[in-house]
Amino acid sequence: MKDEASLEISEIFYSIQGESSYAGFPCLFFRLAGCNLRCAYCDASYTYEEPGKPLPISALLAEAEQYPGCLIEITGGEPLLQEGVYPLMDKLLKAGHKVLLETNGSLDLAKVPAAVIKIVDLKCPDSGMHEKMNLANLTRLAPHDEIKFVLSSRRDYNWAKQMIADHELGKKAQLIMSPVVCKLHAADLAAWILADRLPIRLQLQLHTHLWPDSKRGV
Ligand code: SF4
Repeated sequence: MKDEASLEISEIFYSIQGESSYAGFPCLFFRLAGCNLRCAYCDASYTYEEPGKPLPISALLAEAEQYPGCLIEITGGEPLLQEGVYPLMDKLLKAGHKVLLETNGSLDLAKVPAAVIKIVDLKCPDSGMHEKMNLANLTRLAPHDEIKFVLSSRRDYNWAKQMIADHELGKKAQLIMSPVVCKLHAADLAAWILADRLPIRLQLQLHTHLWPDSKRGV
């Protein structure tokens, strides 16, 4: 029998989607281990500080089978670091799932199946990672994809606004701005978006409101 690809998994959980245009829907999450970035505000450092558990794709598909037709998000860490993510995405799509891929914006999106909904970070300056962004990805977006800016400051907001204008991002994907908790007040961000008439979705992480004491598995 041909060797089956496996992936290093940090955690698998079924929860309410807390981000993106799909916030509020039940969702099965596959969180892959490992990340190539080190964002200043990272709340998932366990994905690269702790070893993942190797699981074959068949085990992940068996898990997904328990949630027929369920929305599935593949996230990390950075899921595109693992080659096995591509056959996993293909097989989940073939099994009839809507698949979201949350990726940090530094790696090439060219091999991601077209039907996958890509939620792509554009890291802002205060993350310390904005120079790691793969800007060629901005030509690889479909209208169902989403670009997410996580903002720590007015400086980040100004940078994001300039990126949206320079690259005409509003024509390429859904746009989301999300404030870093304890760094930027959501009400300030809301006021800036309204003042500038930006066609942006303001995102507050729903899961942090539902389960404020849980750092994992939500
Ligand atoms: S890309 Fe995500 S997991 Fe990686 S360091 Fe940044 S916030 Fe953490």
